[in-house]
Amino acid sequence: MKLPIYLDYAATTPVDFRVAKKMMEYLTINGMFGNSSSPHFYGWEAERAIEIARDNIASFLGGIDSTEIVFTSGATESNNLAIKGVAYSYSNKGKHIITSMTEHKSVLNTCYQLEKEGFFVTFLPPDKNGIISLEKLQMEFRDDTVLVSLVHVNNETGVIQDIKKFGELCRSNSILFHVDATQSVGKISINLLDLPIDLMSFSSHKVYGPKGIGCLYIRKKSKICIQAQIHGGGQEYGIRSGTLPVHQIVGMGEAYHILQKEMKTEILRFKALKKFFWKELQKIADVSVNGNVRQSISTLLNVTFHNFDSELLISKLEEIAVSPSSACTSSSLESSYILYAMGLHEHSINSTIRFSFGRFTTFEEIKFVLHKIKIAIFCLRNK
Ligand code: PMP
Repeated sequence: MKLPIYLDYAATTPVDFRVAKKMMEYLTINGMFGNSSSPHFYGWEAERAIEIARDNIASFLGGIDSTEIVFTSGATESNNLAIKGVAYSYSNKGKHIITSMTEHKSVLNTCYQLEKEGFFVTFLPPDKNGIISLEKLQMEFRDDTVLVSLVHVNNETGVIQDIKKFGELCRSNSILFHVDATQSVGKISINLLDLPIDLMSFSSHKVYGPKGIGCLYIRKKSKICIQAQIHGGGQEYGIRSGTLPVHQIVGMGEAYHILQKEMKTEILRFKALKKFFWKELQKIADVSVNGNVRQSISTLLNVTFHNFDSELLISKLEEIAVSPSSACTSSSLESSYILYAMGLHEHSINSTIRFSFGRFTTFEEIKFVLHKIKIAIFCLRNK
C-alpha cells in the first residue's frame, strides 16, 4: 500500500529511526528495563540513562542546570503543572493570571478550570496577524497578577511571539512568566540562559521523539514554589511523582540531542521548502496566509483557499494527510477559535488548511502535493 504524504508535522511527527533504536535498549529483558528508583544495577543503569537524557535537554536549551528539568507526560501536563502549580502556591499573594485567546487548549481549559475555582483570568486578544501586544499585556497588570502564560509559537498559524520582550516586562513587574514552547522547539533556537523566563513547557512528539513524554523547565534562580499536581513516590524532586518511563525519556533526550546537532541545517531546508510551496501555491489558487508571515516558523503554512470548503478540498486530496485546523480541535468539530480570535470570518476559517512539514518531507513530495491541489481545485471549479 502506498502511504499518503504526511504534511501534518505540527500535529505530531514520526519517531526518528535513531531515537527508536535507542529506546529499544531500555525495554526488554536483554536491555536496561529497570525502575530508576531501584537500588541495584538495573535501577542505577536506568537512572544513569535518565540523567544523560536530562543533560541532553538541558544542553539543547542553552546549557541550563539539568535539575531545572522535570519530566512529565507531555506539554499538556507541563502546562497544567505550571499554571495550576503557580496558581495554588501563590493564591495568598494574588489570584489573577494573564494568558491569550490563542493558546493551546491545555492552557485555555486549565485557566477555565481555575476560574471555576475562584481565580481571575484575562485572555488577551491577538491582532489580525496573531501577534500579542506588549502594551496590551502591560495594561492588564494588576496588583494581584501572579502569572503570565503565553505560547511561543502558535500551533495553528506558526506565528512566533517575542517572548524575550514579554519576559522582561513580567520580570520588571515581579510577575512569573510561563511559556509553552511545544511548537517552537527545533524551529527557533531557545537559550534559556538568555531569556527572562521562569517556566517553560516542552513536548517530545513534535520533534521526532515518542508521544507521552515532555518536561517542564522550572528556573532555579526564580525560587518558584510549584504545587505538585500528582502525588506519589516523590520522583522528580516531589514535583511530579510516578515511575519514570525510562525508554520515553531516553527517546526525548535523543531527539533533542539530534536537534542540537542538525537543527541549523534542517531549518535552512525547511525555509527553502516553505518558500517554494508558497510561491507555487499562489499560481494555483486564490490563497492567503493567516498569521504574520515574517514572524512565523519555517515548517508551517496556514492557508485560506478563498471560495473553497477546506473539508471538501481535503477529501479530494486522498493521498495527502493534512488538517483543516489543529488536530486537538478538529476532533470536536468546532471551527478554529484561534483564527476566529484573529478576526477571520467563519467562511474563511472553513476554507483553511494547515500544511506543516518536517524532517522527512522532500521537494518531490511538495511538488506532488502541489500537483494534487491543482487537480482538486480544477475538479471542484468544474463540477
Ligand atoms: N501546546 C501546544 C502549542 C501544542 O501544539 C500541543 C500539541 N498539539 C500541546 C501544547 C500539547 O502537547 P502534548 O501533546 O505533548 O500534550
